[in-house]
Amino acid sequence: MVRLDEGRLLGALDALAGIGAIDGGGCARLALSDEDKAGRDLVVDWMKALGLAVQVDAIGNVIGLRAGRETVAPVMTGSHIDTVRTGGRYDGNYGVLAGLEVVRALNAAGITTRRPIAVAFFTNEEGARFQPDMMGSLVYAGGLGLNEAYAAADKDGRSVGDELRRIGYLGAARPGAVRPHAFVELHIEQGPILDEEKVQVGVVESVQGISWTEYTVTGVSNHAGTTPMRLRRDAGYLAASVNLFARRLAWEMGGNQVATVGALSLRPNLINVVPNRAVFTVDLRNTDEEKLKQAEAAVAAHIAEVSREERVEVESKVLARFEPVIFDAALVDRVEHHARALSLSTRRMPSGAGHDAQMMQRLCPTAMIFVPSVAGLSHNVKEHTDAADLAAGAQVLLNLMVELAEAS
Ligand SMILES: [Zn+2]
Repeated sequence: MVRLDEGRLLGALDALAGIGAIDGGGCARLALSDEDKAGRDLVVDWMKALGLAVQVDAIGNVIGLRAGRETVAPVMTGSHIDTVRTGGRYDGNYGVLAGLEVVRALNAAGITTRRPIAVAFFTNEEGARFQPDMMGSLVYAGGLGLNEAYAAADKDGRSVGDELRRIGYLGAARPGAVRPHAFVELHIEQGPILDEEKVQVGVVESVQGISWTEYTVTGVSNHAGTTPMRLRRDAGYLAASVNLFARRLAWEMGGNQVATVGALSLRPNLINVVPNRAVFTVDLRNTDEEKLKQAEAAVAAHIAEVSREERVEVESKVLARFEPVIFDAALVDRVEHHARALSLSTRRMPSGAGHDAQMMQRLCPTAMIFVPSVAGLSHNVKEHTDAADLAAGAQVLLNLMVELAEAS
């Protein structure tokens, strides 16, 4: 068996985490920012040093290709290196850097696999600056046009197209031009299950569907002391009621339904003024598409009812909508096999978060490997995975990649 070098993996994670480092050990490398550019440049340098042929596509996805004995479709791994503003050092970065360590291990062992091996990082997975999230892999899989992606703008009005050009990652390759034989993404769980159950490897069978909607509510501002309750047209009241409703709805639906009002702003946002405007978001997720639709309909009905009672106007805008994804059953079995062959404990599970792998499943058989997140913390500077778990997951990835790259 080819052995993965744990020390090198940890060193690479440390070095990348030094770019855009923030207090507490985390990272802020928002997509297409100067920090993202610096992170990209470092990883591209590493790819070149490993002898990979690097190509950048028109949405800024970067693919490093290691030639195989035959010129056939490569086995691909990868993830993302952009982060949220209060990101940890493992989310996404771990999968990309473990991919590079797979290549390093094969180089050191002098092995050329039958199929080429590709290591990719995709643009704007997080969606923290530009929506939709998973943008690069979505474009790669043909689910979003380039012009639509280019037009997406951040809150300061800067567009994806302009920012790609500014940081020098508007590449020439056509997204999706390298069509993989299979895709495997290694990622931290970002949830508490593996840590709680003391399981070493999560065998990911599916990804929850995601529904993101932004609502803008218009009411009437008035004096908080003199306006009788029956005459109020309070935009903030609607926002608050949706937050409560979403929480109750998720409890009542049970299963893995989750619901979050994560962003909320009021205007004028003053203690003694009835708000005339509220902007808030609703994030709904479920592994079952029918249930996700039920949840969407329930929230919409609640908003219609309360907005009528409160006499406020509501506009909605869908920010992202992805159906649940079921990964390739045979490939999922191989993840489990390789983890068990290394005497690691495993558990089958859905992914609660969205991942680039869910887009790649549109193109080729795809699976994911999860490792534990201590206390389930992610999108948090305290995000942590023990070194032994990081090494174990990367070794599973290496063994699976070698098998896939040798198979016919
Ligand atoms: Zn991620």
